[in-house]
Amino acid sequence: MSHQIIAIDGPAGSGKSTVARQVARELGWSFLDTGAMYRAVTCEALSRGLDVHDEQVLGRLASEVTLTTLPRVTVNGRDVEDEIRNDRVNEAVSVVAANPLVRRAMVARQREWAAQQPVGTVVEGRDITTVVFPDATLKIFLTASPMERSRRRGDESAASVSRRDEADLTRDASPLRQSDDALVLDTTGRTVDEVAGEIIECLSARQSN
Ligand code: C5P
Repeated sequence: MSHQIIAIDGPAGSGKSTVARQVARELGWSFLDTGAMYRAVTCEALSRGLDVHDEQVLGRLASEVTLTTLPRVTVNGRDVEDEIRNDRVNEAVSVVAANPLVRRAMVARQREWAAQQPVGTVVEGRDITTVVFPDATLKIFLTASPMERSRRRGDESAASVSRRDEADLTRDASPLRQSDDALVLDTTGRTVDEVAGEIIECLSARQSN
């Protein structure tokens, strides 16, 4: 039963974090928001006044910092839970996330972290089903209509969200894409409970096969 992984990918506003948290809660599994990791590194780079386009400097930073995502997002012990959602981070995070050295450091941490979980974990992001855990127990790709996604985006402007989506889809390093064997779920007009319930049913079916 060890190292079971539900991998969830999808664009901004598709419902990944909320659904992943709910699935993890219902299963009693741990949960990892990998976007928070890229955001925390971005936060630290901005607060040190680093050039976020400098691949080497950012790559070094990503492998050196201490990160936590739960119960709070911290970087080198500094609480950045609120700061990671601000406009400066929204603008810079896709640049940092397109850096292959940063990605290599984050992927290594994500795999190491998952291997330490006692039963199972739900991990969400952009490259989880394709790169980080291609052999996950269950792979999900969440989508939602543009209107629903823009309704869910919170304080971030529509322009900022679409810039991030475009950057995440077109970058060379691990772009967001639908893995062939992922279950695609459209969350438009559906409650978190419904979507989480469907994922858990799929997991049970997978486990009994
Ligand atoms: O999930 P969230 O919107 O917080 O992610 C913020 C950004 O982090 C994304 O726009 C993307 O650039 C990056 N990201 C990534 N790979 C992941 C998770 C997030 O590139 N696995």
